[in-house]
Amino acid sequence: MILAPHADDESLGCGGLIAAARAQGVAVHVICMTDGAASHPNSHAWGGGRLTERREAEMIRALAHLGCAPDSVRFLRHPDGWLGAQDGAAIGATLADLCAQLRVRTLLASSGIDHHADHKATAAIAAHMTRHHPELRHWAYPVWSRWDDAAYLQAHGRLRPRSFDTSDWQSAKRRAIDAHDSQLGRIVEDDPAGFAMPGAFVEFFATAPEIFFEVPSCP
Ligand SMILES: [Zn+2]
Repeated sequence: MILAPHADDESLGCGGLIAAARAQGVAVHVICMTDGAASHPNSHAWGGGRLTERREAEMIRALAHLGCAPDSVRFLRHPDGWLGAQDGAAIGATLADLCAQLRVRTLLASSGIDHHADHKATAAIAAHMTRHHPELRHWAYPVWSRWDDAAYLQAHGRLRPRSFDTSDWQSAKRRAIDAHDSQLGRIVEDDPAGFAMPGAFVEFFATAPEIFFEVPSCP
């Protein structure tokens, strides 16, 4: 199970691993935590839930490139930017039940070192889940900290990084990232201050090995 704070984190942080898992027949379930509406908060044309629907469709397309069927993703639609203000323990308990139902053994969640409140909140929810199910292996994947924090490895403290070479999955991963049109500056035209991934950012995540930190479950 992959916890993605926003539609695009799954492709950026673990697209290669998802493609590799699917190629081996491993079931992958993706949870999109927020509605993604904060990427273009000033757009009138894409307000009122339209951007959320667009981003969800993009995520489904991205996951198709990685070998996942549309029903492998669930959208929780918590308010973008405010996941930390929700009841993380309750969200974690519900997701832990879902893990038990789906026989999930491995949980990947955004790293709490990432400099984004929803990424930190997602990491905290993952920690709640392993409290319910200590047998779940929990791995943290960095996105923003890898990009903007030169000391991100040290910032993870005693957690040791494992690197996954995505060379064999690079074209699928690139197509998955590319499916997130609205985050690449191609769709929303009436919010110039809205988010657009820089080209170098896309290139970095499309080609660099993926990094995962195993997080011990704390009682
Ligand atoms: Zn994100």
